[in-house]
Amino acid sequence: MNTQYPEINKKTNIVFFTGAGMSAESGIPTYRGSGGIWHKYNWEEYACQDAFNIDPQKVVNFHNIRREKVAACVPNSGHVTIADLQNKFENITIITQNIDGLHQLAGSKDILELHGSLWWGRCKKCNFNINLRNNFNEIKKCSKCSRWLRPNITWFGDALDVAVFQKAHNAILNSEVFISIGTSGIVHPAAEFPYLAKSNGAYCIEVNLETTRLSSIYDSTQIGSAGKILKELHHTFFDRFIK
Ligand code: NAD
Ligand code: ZN
Repeated sequence: MNTQYPEINKKTNIVFFTGAGMSAESGIPTYRGSGGIWHKYNWEEYACQDAFNIDPQKVVNFHNIRREKVAACVPNSGHVTIADLQNKFENITIITQNIDGLHQLAGSKDILELHGSLWWGRCKKCNFNINLRNNFNEIKKCSKCSRWLRPNITWFGDALDVAVFQKAHNAILNSEVFISIGTSGIVHPAAEFPYLAKSNGAYCIEVNLETTRLSSIYDSTQIGSAGKILKELHHTFFDRFIK
């Protein structure tokens, strides 16, 4: 355990940057793990705008099966620890690559969903978003123009939402502590975030089951599951400064 932790206080700007490993203990497989969906399915048929243009029903049905699986999952102790810390510290931003909505379910706020959310549908023509969390099996088309609603997530080949990306970028530029959890650092542009945080002076902590190609950038890499290590960080890093 690194003992050279920086001083922090209730107002310290803290960023949690989470990836698929954050939700693994909730039962949602990571993409690169053995249960990852792109080992089983061809993304070109299910997860890109071209596939949706060719056969929207097939693509939406596929995502509705994913929605049903994710709907059966609940936040794990890692999500809960972060939500807890948000009640104790004033400036915590969560930047997530996950689309599962588990940070929200754990009670967190100020969540920047870089890759969108499985729970929202979008009409590309009318350009509006609609929350489908409780009725994705009933509402499949836009009420105005009758086009199929595409899941509001970042598919292969899609650009990131510029406004969300800009907010994430700014939060990282301002961060004094940057903690990444369960991300392989392979998917761009999010893979650049730890560099950005480090070069702007943040103290950087990585939480993962194994070292990653970005581990050398971090001030501290903590090996273990998100739930376990976050609980430890709560006690060893955060609690010392709560007055
Ligand atoms: P990734 O699949 O590339 O990497 C996951 C990382 O998490 C790995 O480095 C792995 O070692 C680590 N990990 C696995 N289990 C862990 C645990 N219990 N505790 C801590 N770390 C653990 O995921 P990525 O870097 O997030 O990039 C893949 C893309 O796919 C992202 O956009 C991601 O969010 C998306 N995705 C999202 C979900 C979801 O919404 N839950 C699930 C799968 C993939
Ligand atoms: Zn429409």
